[in-house]
Amino acid sequence: MDLGLKGRVAFVAAASRGLGRAIAEALAAEGARVAVCARGAGITEVAAEIGRSHGVETFGVVADVSVPADVERAVRAVTAHFGSIDILVTNAGGPPPGPFESHTADAWRRAVELNLDSVVNLTRAVLPGMKERRWGRILNVTSIAVKQPVDGLILSNSVRAAVTGFARTLANEVAPFGITVNNLLPGYTRTERLEQLAGANAKAKGTTPEAAFAAWEQQIPMGRVGEPHEFAALAAFLASERASYITAQSVAVDGGWIRSLV
Ligand code: NAD
Repeated sequence: MDLGLKGRVAFVAAASRGLGRAIAEALAAEGARVAVCARGAGITEVAAEIGRSHGVETFGVVADVSVPADVERAVRAVTAHFGSIDILVTNAGGPPPGPFESHTADAWRRAVELNLDSVVNLTRAVLPGMKERRWGRILNVTSIAVKQPVDGLILSNSVRAAVTGFARTLANEVAPFGITVNNLLPGYTRTERLEQLAGANAKAKGTTPEAAFAAWEQQIPMGRVGEPHEFAALAAFLASERASYITAQSVAVDGGWIRSLV
């Protein structure tokens, strides 16, 4: 199937590694021109590597998505470089794990800035251009937690729910402009974030990271954690021309982990 992504411009936030990087690679593999951001200067080399691997034009910009001024500057830089942004993928690191009483008020504020405000600010910056061109794709990386909260991840469980409410409402507002808004829900997927969660989990339970992985694998019907490219394939499809009538959805890539009917 030709996804119709050749020449489209995608901006994938928080893409130096993990799920963001895998999405950037998947879009580049389909011929999209791809901009990526992350906090460290290494993002320029990441962009160059993606460009070399897939033979497309890429652009890297240093930005902390939890800082509103960085978001505005990054979107301005990408727009100046490519002329427009057709596809926005909002993404960021995950908030720290731990039970309610382990998090200070400041930790809650930071989680909101990192995983909610970043989505709102990125969207605010790209939306006018998408509306003008009457075409756009907004994809938010959230979590399986929006359908089945994950024990010990109260910050993530709470803030992703807010993103889901935002996206569901925005989808209706922008549908008349040919813009779709969907959420991608990663299940347990092999990235540095998952290694960190396994470490934290092991420490809390007095076991090992290997035992944490084994316990997760037992909960997953597929019997294994996912790979970033398996998650990224969904992003490429939902970003595509082919997904023009799919909006306001939260779609999981979780090996069957969520136990709900829909
Ligand atoms: P990761 O930690 O492996 O990678 C995170 C990426 O975000 C890195 O490129 C990092 O440089 C970048 N980043 C972090 N904070 C940033 C900031 N403030 N500004 C700009 N860039 C920033 O994480 P991942 O596994 O790829 O997860 C991506 C998102 O998906 C996270 O929000 C995570 O909580 C969520 N998620 C992951 C899983 C999983 O199993 N991997 C499951 C559910 C949800």
